[in-house]
Amino acid sequence: MAETAEKKPHIVMTPFMAHGHLIPFLALARKIQETTTTFKITIATTPLNIQHLKSAISNTFSSSNNDISINLAELPFNHSQYGLPPNVENTEKLPLTDIIKLFHASTSLEAPLSSLISKITQQEGQPPICIISDVFLGWATNVAKSLGTRNISFTTCGAYGTLAYISIWCNLPHRKTDSDEFWVPGFPQNYRFHISQMHRYLRAADGTDDWSKFFPPQIALSMKSDGWICNTVEEIENLGLQLLKNYLQLPVWCIGPLLPSTTLKGSNSKYRAGKESGIALEECMEWLDLKDENSVLYISFGSQNTVSASQMMALAEGLEESEKLFIWVIRPPCGFDINAEFKAEWLPEGFEERMKHSKRGLLVHKWGPQLEILSHKSTGAFLSHCGWNSVLESLSQGVPIIGWPLAAEQAYNAKMLVEEMGVSVELTRTVESVISKEDVKWVIEIVMDQEGKGKEMKEKANEIAVHMREATVEKGKEKGSSLRAMDDFVRTILQV
Ligand code: UDP
Repeated sequence: MAETAEKKPHIVMTPFMAHGHLIPFLALARKIQETTTTFKITIATTPLNIQHLKSAISNTFSSSNNDISINLAELPFNHSQYGLPPNVENTEKLPLTDIIKLFHASTSLEAPLSSLISKITQQEGQPPICIISDVFLGWATNVAKSLGTRNISFTTCGAYGTLAYISIWCNLPHRKTDSDEFWVPGFPQNYRFHISQMHRYLRAADGTDDWSKFFPPQIALSMKSDGWICNTVEEIENLGLQLLKNYLQLPVWCIGPLLPSTTLKGSNSKYRAGKESGIALEECMEWLDLKDENSVLYISFGSQNTVSASQMMALAEGLEESEKLFIWVIRPPCGFDINAEFKAEWLPEGFEERMKHSKRGLLVHKWGPQLEILSHKSTGAFLSHCGWNSVLESLSQGVPIIGWPLAAEQAYNAKMLVEEMGVSVELTRTVESVISKEDVKWVIEIVMDQEGKGKEMKEKANEIAVHMREATVEKGKEKGSSLRAMDDFVRTILQV
């Protein structure tokens, strides 16, 4: 047995050091092993991130999946050289202003990864069959080329959002015009993006700042990979996929959706990113069980974002005036420690008590069981920052989205949800915008309307949910598109 295992072609995976990347990498590793037991898989990252992965693996792989084994390899990491505080190896707990330091520090993993690949080559008599690296770790293509293997880049985002993000970073099209609107290379000529869809760091990028010293070169290196894997479904992102393939001129395998349920044991999302829920799952489900179908709005801004103090106030006032039911995963507003205790003064006076007593609104502090809430029949819409995992989770349950993108590629996801998919209305963008309670009430009424536009969006979201399900199952002898893409990926890397 051991002898056969040693001869297996080896895949080495290396994620960027953020939970939103570690978890999809783990899910991808598992998906590859579910497709075929041909490979030995090792995920290589820094020591503290290995600890996160270890606890995620021990908490997520059920006993029925004993055949799934993923190796972990530590890459030594020198944080102090990049001005990072001791014991910080992950975006978690880093303020936005310091996250760029972690990006730059990730380039220092090139030498340790090279050593690992050389060691594997020596031990196994052949180099790994490929490296699967995060799109942000473009330097892995150099490691692969110099050590006789291939590199496949993995984007944890969708095709449309990935294309917009990489093309804007590499071309900085907003710096070449005086207009607030501009065309982004790779998109059809009549498509326009808006300056407000960019994070302030990207808006200010000119090639000399720390952000543009990192992203364009790393993305350009990833574009020299042998192919890309994308966490999406061909049928739901037809346009985005075609455009991304044209832009990269590389094969792109859409193997998604990599949903937490595929990585999780049971239904306890406590373990999803090593975070403990602010509410017991049973309490949350009981609250939802008492509500009518599609009557509840779920609100969350992902794993690391929050909104400004004035936006939070307007959101609460608008919710109250809309008289709709809601569950709101709430954290201190921008400018305060996101993990600190919540202060009542950040909400209208008496808000939390009024919502509690009238049973109209449930405030969940810090972290909520998102996928379970979205899967509940009472949940009718999701006010979201449009992080790609949230988008996939919502659409997989046929839940339309009220968009409020805050960072990264979220605004491009929001644009696609509105313009291509017709499943969303955007409330606002970024933490800098000014919103009123009337804006909030207006958008909630449209999206949660059981007739008119609200009904149309719900129907479209349900159609997308069907496509997502069909992509990952086998009907008769016909495999869904994501299964076929995974088969093709396996075939391709096995070809010498
Ligand atoms: N999540 C959760 N509970 C929360 C907030 C987030 O379970 O209270 C999970 C959510 O289900 C998703 C992930 O955290 O899987 C957030 O990923 P996304 O890509 O949407 O946003 P990011 O956190 O990367 O900005």
